[in-house]
Amino acid sequence: MRSNGGHSPFERLKQYYNHEERVCQECGFEDRYGTWDAETDGSDIAYTHTCPRCGAEQEHTLELSNHDTRHVLNESRERRLHQRDQSLSV
Ligand SMILES: [Zn+2]
Repeated sequence: MRSNGGHSPFERLKQYYNHEERVCQECGFEDRYGTWDAETDGSDIAYTHTCPRCGAEQEHTLELSNHDTRHVLNESRERRLHQRDQSLSV
């Protein structure tokens, strides 16, 4: 049984940022072990990440009803499925 069956869109998007965007836009430091924190007020999600090197804070605010947000969610999921296919075929 795969463990991601009960994950909300939130969790998926958080994982997406954890994988895709950990390079600080200020100093270029890659926070390889960093994570994004997610907060929501019910209609928007705010993701924040603080650079451990220079302290710069990056933030993404996403509207849950926004088409782009859904697109990111779908893209994230499809990419993971694609990676799984590749690993099976090796
Ligand atoms: Zn930085």
